[in-house]
Amino acid sequence: MKVNKNGFYVASVDNRCTCGGKCISVCPFNPEPSASLRTEHEISAIFLNEAPNFNKKIGRYISTYAGYSIKNRLSSSSGGIATYILSELLARGEIQHVISVKGSDTHYEYAISNNIEELQTTAKTKYYPVTLNSVFDKLQELDGNVAIVGVACFIKAIRLAQANDLKLKQKIKFLVGIICGGIKSSFFAEYLASKVGVDVDEYSEPEFRIKDINSTASDYSFGCLDKFKNQKTIKMRTVGDMWGTGLFKANACDYCDDVTAELADVSLGDAWLEPFSNDGRGTNVIVTRSLLAEKIIQDGIEKDDLNIEKLSEDRFIVSQQGSFNHRHDGLGFRIERSKKKGIPIPPKRFTDIKISPLIKIIQIMRMRTRYKSLEVWGETRNAVSFDNKMERDLYWLKAVTKINHYHRAVIKRIRKAFIK
Ligand SMILES: Cc1cc2nc3c(=O)[nH]c(=O)nc-3n(C[C@H](O)[C@H](O)[C@H](O)COP(=O)(O)OP(=O)(O)OC[C@H]3O[C@@H](n4cnc5c(N)ncnc54)[C@H](O)[C@@H]3O)c2cc1C
Repeated sequence: MKVNKNGFYVASVDNRCTCGGKCISVCPFNPEPSASLRTEHEISAIFLNEAPNFNKKIGRYISTYAGYSIKNRLSSSSGGIATYILSELLARGEIQHVISVKGSDTHYEYAISNNIEELQTTAKTKYYPVTLNSVFDKLQELDGNVAIVGVACFIKAIRLAQANDLKLKQKIKFLVGIICGGIKSSFFAEYLASKVGVDVDEYSEPEFRIKDINSTASDYSFGCLDKFKNQKTIKMRTVGDMWGTGLFKANACDYCDDVTAELADVSLGDAWLEPFSNDGRGTNVIVTRSLLAEKIIQDGIEKDDLNIEKLSEDRFIVSQQGSFNHRHDGLGFRIERSKKKGIPIPPKRFTDIKISPLIKIIQIMRMRTRYKSLEVWGETRNAVSFDNKMERDLYWLKAVTKINHYHRAVIKRIRKAFIK
């Protein structure tokens, strides 16, 4: 894996494949997967058959919850449930190693923790490109079992590797899925560093989720160190919408239909839902999909380690509504456009959803904003110049999105008034 000119890790194919196609068979965006591993539906049937429930949007699952870990909440990004579950797995002897994302010379990378103290240093969300490349090779040398943390496409790649290799199936005992709204280029961190006034070649220790415990959960800050090791921070709400616009996002994310990390033992996200979102200390949404994950949560509630309540399917879906709207509802339209250009697309679900002309315009504008943000940052590498060059696109995207929200609200009211 090598970092490309747009700040993303991509497979570096110097020579022709010498592994008989194993490499492409584990790619989560393989355009021609085998019939038994076509989509998340087929793969989850192999790995998550303990889960009795199924929801088209959530996948196979046992329970859905919202809550937090009393010990890990403040040192984590949301409610600290990821770090809590991984600590429990180590403490119970279910696993001996955790593969998660740690600080490094290149800002962040996947690394191996062998005990709870090491694991604690890997908490918090990093909106930064990482690759499993370096640690995956070392996996078989490790004594004992491992848990791996990853966003949906990484979890899918691991499941595909496990489907091809029984040893990996036994060795990788547990997967923590991080619900993901899109992978960001390294340009995202550079842009934010520049926004706080630090030279893009001199910033270090970027922190993407600095909580404000006296405010709401979404009122978090970005921070990084300048060359004198002074921390500079900025509230993300002052930077503007970094997620709905598609800024600095990977193109592949526009062709991912797995909003909830459907192939993990447990999936964790932010509870973007009232009343949880009013609490700046952070709260997780949780989907358990294996009996071990469910047991850890149930035991945690009983031991008073966790403050957790059940969440209905509907409420869970509302907590990730924006992501479902974009990733599921707009997917068919994006695929149709790409196919017209001859771009190969993997088999996908949710492709038959019809969207209004206004939403089609928004989709086109988002795709353009995503593409242009990478081009413009590559040229400018300076937040002031970048903002100037992106201003028009972002202005129109915001305006059309606002009209769409207004239109949706009116339709909802009319339906409520006339349809009982
Ligand atoms: C790229 C990205 C996009 C996200 N988008 C959304 C979203 O749209 N909606 C939503 O609800 N939540 C999203 N999240 C998840 C959210 O930010 C929290 O990570 C999640 O709720 C877990 O919180 P926690 O407090 O339980 O985790 P913590 O206890 O803080 O632990 C976080 C774990 O994730 C690992 N980790 C951090 N960064 C990465 C990474 N880049 N790749 C793989 N593992 C990593 C850490 O090493 C640690 O093990 C996103 C996270 C990432 C990394």
